[in-house]
Amino acid sequence: MLKKGMKAYSILTGSCPKCHSESMYEHTNPYRLGHLFDMHERCSHCNTKYKIEPSFFYGAMYVSYAVGIAFAVAAFVIAFLIFSASLINTFIAIVGTLILFMPVIIRVSRNIWINFFIHYDKKAVKA
Ligand SMILES: [Zn+2]
Repeated sequence: MLKKGMKAYSILTGSCPKCHSESMYEHTNPYRLGHLFDMHERCSHCNTKYKIEPSFFYGAMYVSYAVGIAFAVAAFVIAFLIFSASLINTFIAIVGTLILFMPVIIRVSRNIWINFFIHYDKKAVKA
């Protein structure tokens, strides 16, 4: 379903946006909070530089707004519409969801942001 060569593959796995061969992150688990932002300088397969320019990933903040809204809407639908929770409990569910998934939201936002600028390249993939 999720194949190399699809943008979604790089976004959901955090792999190199150009060759999809390895993770951009030094630790793939985003819940190791002390290492949440630790990224490799370059891809060891295709030599793509991840931080294209200084402060490149500041732009991911704009993306994280949209991703956060998506998580909040999902929490609202599940709590309010499916479980018929009260408004205050729905609010608590939304805040809890955003806190719990914060590391995932940050990583996915970075992945989406870098995938705006770097595209998959079949030739970059080595056998
Ligand atoms: Zn690569």
